[in-house]
Amino acid sequence: MSEKSFVITPTEHPVSDADRARLLEHPGFGAVFSDHMATLKWTSDKGWHDGLVGPRRPFQIDPAAAVLHYGQEIFEGMKAYQTQNGGVVLFRPEANAKRFGRSAERLAMPVLPTELFIEAIEELVRLDHEWIPTSEGASLYLRPFLFATEAFLGVRPSREFTFCVLASPVGPYFSGGQKPITVWVSKDYIRAASGGTGAAKCGGNYAAGLLAQAQAYDHGCDQVVFLDAVERRWIEELGGMNVFFVTKDGKLMTPPLSGTILEGITRDSILKLAAEQGLTVQETPYSYEQWKLDAASGVLTEAFACGTAAVIVPIGVVRDAAGEFTIGNGAAGPVTETLYHRLVNIQRGVEADTHEWLHKI
Ligand code: PMP
Repeated sequence: MSEKSFVITPTEHPVSDADRARLLEHPGFGAVFSDHMATLKWTSDKGWHDGLVGPRRPFQIDPAAAVLHYGQEIFEGMKAYQTQNGGVVLFRPEANAKRFGRSAERLAMPVLPTELFIEAIEELVRLDHEWIPTSEGASLYLRPFLFATEAFLGVRPSREFTFCVLASPVGPYFSGGQKPITVWVSKDYIRAASGGTGAAKCGGNYAAGLLAQAQAYDHGCDQVVFLDAVERRWIEELGGMNVFFVTKDGKLMTPPLSGTILEGITRDSILKLAAEQGLTVQETPYSYEQWKLDAASGVLTEAFACGTAAVIVPIGVVRDAAGEFTIGNGAAGPVTETLYHRLVNIQRGVEADTHEWLHKI
């Protein structure tokens, strides 16, 4: 491909300054979109081609497109932040690009080179920089995704794909902001089994989790907690977040990367920050039964969920069909708060970026 892989064609009908300002005031999560999108095609004969950053508009795809029948689709989630000195940064975009590549391999899709993944995002963020909200806790959420477009009903990997990046200004993921959440432990459904697609970020995983998530909402909970597929005993992760546990004696635990959970970039960042802070960090299986016992005895003092969208949010109450228990006194604990502030401060350029996690645009 030529040096610039994307042709830039700004929209002739941008949202007016006044309308954009109004939309950025209370963007919510995932419902407001910027003016443009990046697209790139892949075909088995030409490889990656036709890179474009142009007006955001509907796709035209054939009704027989493989994604509509067999769900051959993967995605990523990341954010562009306005730093305190007015710059714009991405947080560890190479890690998202690599995970996108691993997801593609698992779903028998072409692997997009890291440089192209990042170039698409950079060009889109540059063109839509006015869509980055500046209020506290707000950012521009970026959604890269890849889906199968070949019109063919036989079951085999598609020979045509479309890559796209959307940009969506967002506020806090949970309406309560940093208030502790209540989680629902699903006894009826599992998210992923060994040898399945749990470690990939593919649409099918989320479709399969929606019913459990709906039950969580029905029981007044914010998120669902999934247990392992074999024994229904070990805590895996939440519907869209990883999970951490803090003990009285300064131990930070999180379930190991067993192949059935998503390798969260926030999870990895927290493990590194916590170790530096002198916490004993353990990637170890932890059972739901033990969680209950440790919360009751006071051994477990904090639990939190983490991911790009919500960053770090405390877990206050854990509920299942049989009852519920509270973590600590139900409020955010000091380890959760410290890690949250450290991560946000690095992302905003307030704390030194000693790990070189920030990618300037
Ligand atoms: N687990 C699942 C199932 C997720 O969807 C996400 C969000 N991508 C995470 C964990 C957290 O990953 P990250 O920290 O990279 O956003």
